[in-house]
Amino acid sequence: MLRALDFKVKILYVVLATIETTTYTGKFGEKEDASMKIAGLQKLTLLDYPGKVACTVFASGCNFRCPFCHNAALVLPERKQADIPESDVIAFLRKRAGLLEGVCLSGGEPLLQQGIRAFLRRIKELGYFVKLDTNGSRPELLGCLMEEGLLDYVAMDIKNTPSKYALTAGVPGMDTAPVIQSAELLMCGRIPYEFRTTVVREFHTRDDLVDIGRWLKGAQRYFLQGFVDSGDLIASGLHPAEPEELARAIQLLKPFFNETALRGV
Ligand code: SF4
Repeated sequence: MLRALDFKVKILYVVLATIETTTYTGKFGEKEDASMKIAGLQKLTLLDYPGKVACTVFASGCNFRCPFCHNAALVLPERKQADIPESDVIAFLRKRAGLLEGVCLSGGEPLLQQGIRAFLRRIKELGYFVKLDTNGSRPELLGCLMEEGLLDYVAMDIKNTPSKYALTAGVPGMDTAPVIQSAELLMCGRIPYEFRTTVVREFHTRDDLVDIGRWLKGAQRYFLQGFVDSGDLIASGLHPAEPEELARAIQLLKPFFNETALRGV
């Protein structure tokens, strides 16, 4: 089944890349001269980029409204704070080149940013490894950035099993096809990637997690993350799953993935 999936995804990848190469001038909404809307910069992280000393850049805005989102200020326009100029972030990266190894581009949803391609090119010119955190809603742009060699690692959120995706992402009636397409692209194995699910008692049952295992069977890495109330959530009244329940889920998920583990528990 994986071989059939690989073939299908490779065809998709080539088609998307060809479209973009031949017609690029904002095919996916990006603009060469647009600046990134950056809401935050964490100058040092040993956790966000596996195996690398990195910083994290937080892009502003998101097309999902996950009730358990712990960065509501990055997502909700009414809680938005002043952006950091992109030029300040580039100046910081220029100064730290050779000291930091990687940049984790997180959010919000970075793939909504019109200036993302130009921004990533600047980061790569400075010699950094780049990790992208994404909700997987823009597979075409994801594929093109991968094809251009602008991404070295991708961490994609898996909100839930497809039948509960809209509910869990807080977008009633959402089309799950782009998310499924992004997962297939990553499973081509061109660059290292991980899938991860933040487990919230009100949204995830053990059966949901096993369904995710069946969906993404054969993936490189899949992590379950404990839900933590950051005090900046989109919704209230949510609870983490019991640690024993998470440990049990991990045992059930092990047969589906090369590597699977708990995080933040
Ligand atoms: S958790 Fe991620 S995808 Fe969901 S609203 Fe927050 S930033 Fe967007």
